[in-house]
Amino acid sequence: MRRFGHVINGATRAAASGAWRQVFEPATAQAYAEVADGDTADVDAAVAAASAAFPAWAALRNSERSLWLERLADALEARLDDFAHAEARDGGKPFALARDAEIPRAVSNLRFFAHAATQFGSESHHGEAGLNYTLRQPLGVVGTISPWNLPLYLFTWKIAPALAAGNTVVAKPSEVTPATATMLGELAAEIGFPAGVLNVVHGLGPAVGEAIVGHPSVKAVSFTGSTAVGRRIAGIAAPLLKKLSLELGGKNPTLVFADSDWQDQLDTIVRSAFQNSGQICLCGSRILVERPIYAAFRDALLERVLALRVGDPMDSDARIGPLVSQAHFDKVVAALERAREEGGRVLCGGGALDRPGWFVAPTLVEGLGPDCASNREEIFGPVATLQPFDSDDQALALANAGDYGLAASVWTRDLARAHRFGAELRCGIVWINTWLMRDLRTPFGGMGQSGLGREGGDDAMRFFTEARNVCIAR
Ligand code: NAP
Repeated sequence: MRRFGHVINGATRAAASGAWRQVFEPATAQAYAEVADGDTADVDAAVAAASAAFPAWAALRNSERSLWLERLADALEARLDDFAHAEARDGGKPFALARDAEIPRAVSNLRFFAHAATQFGSESHHGEAGLNYTLRQPLGVVGTISPWNLPLYLFTWKIAPALAAGNTVVAKPSEVTPATATMLGELAAEIGFPAGVLNVVHGLGPAVGEAIVGHPSVKAVSFTGSTAVGRRIAGIAAPLLKKLSLELGGKNPTLVFADSDWQDQLDTIVRSAFQNSGQICLCGSRILVERPIYAAFRDALLERVLALRVGDPMDSDARIGPLVSQAHFDKVVAALERAREEGGRVLCGGGALDRPGWFVAPTLVEGLGPDCASNREEIFGPVATLQPFDSDDQALALANAGDYGLAASVWTRDLARAHRFGAELRCGIVWINTWLMRDLRTPFGGMGQSGLGREGGDDAMRFFTEARNVCIAR
């Protein structure tokens, strides 16, 4: 059985305790590999390696660090199919999605921040009495903790800016999907990355994740995952006055206006709710529709959703794969039960498929108000609700209801309305007539219970550096 070890100081190794955990294949619900079951001892070893590697890595020219990231991107691109295959097997996502979108995006993350290493600038302020200039220096050893839904995509989204800025990294992927992070750590070692610069430590969140957050030599933590765990991490990091970036959950609205070209845009709207079985923090799980088109839109959407092919991740026709784990499957199935109990009308799907693996049928529910748990709590599965609205004000109130504030998409041809919603939706990312169109320079993140801080572009480079102002008298 394949084993995914830690990658510490350039070498793959078992946990110090010798313990392994099973890794399951979502499409069969069978164990197919094992992952090192790390603890504090492994985190200590990784932090020691990263601390030892830091001075030399930070002292490299920006162009040299840039070249290392480019080399890693090249090596990953050369093995794109292997990585996509591993991602599909490990997390249950359609192979085509991993091959055409997620692994290429991991390559782009590495290339984008390779360029950022040489392009990132800092400020200067010319005053009457003196000149101030700002140095942006690496922090030292930083920790990254990433989730299972977009394993390599989000892993690289964090490690790339951290490394580009001159830090060394201790990275913890989710134990649910350890494959591609391990493979990338091993690939870095294979191409000769300086040992200790990128360390991958596996294990459960409360054991390994908390050990990283609480380690005195880890200067900052970049976390993506659930709001509950983000809160717990903030509780550990706050008394240590540690720099923290938190990218958390969402319950994103999709607003469809009668004046939009919704018939032409239906494919994207469907994708925005169901891509990766709805297991994307940016998925629009609350679809708000202007009343005059409600019935026509609902019927057309229903037809498209019924046509979504659910199947094995390796089946090239499959658009929807299984959910990632037994625990997550149980959570989504329970949420569907709750939607019924709350009085929701299930238009399609509504439960598990009768086949091996953790498959849930794509589900649409209508008839639930904004205060229902189904419209307030993140389900993170192939489930969307539909609600009608009668005016722009009501649409805005419905969209802004709830505690999350990550993303929204607005479908309209009215430019004034687009600007109003762009400014007044309470969330970090607004897409108008599109969804998940990403420019890696833009600030990425949420407000409210969706997180703290922004990733991407200069925001990420600033997070992973310390600003020091130098003032010279004239
Ligand atoms: P999660 O349970 O919060 O786990 C995320 C990561 O944190 C995993 O590596 C997990 O490790 C680790 N972890 C768990 N408990 C921990 C603890 N006490 N201390 C430190 N680390 C701990 O989230 P998930 O279920 O993997 O991911 C789904 C969630 O992520 C959803 O809420 C989704 O919205 C959110 N998400 C947000 C964004 C964004 O950019 N805003 C992007 C993607 C996903 P183990 O899994 O190994 O236990």
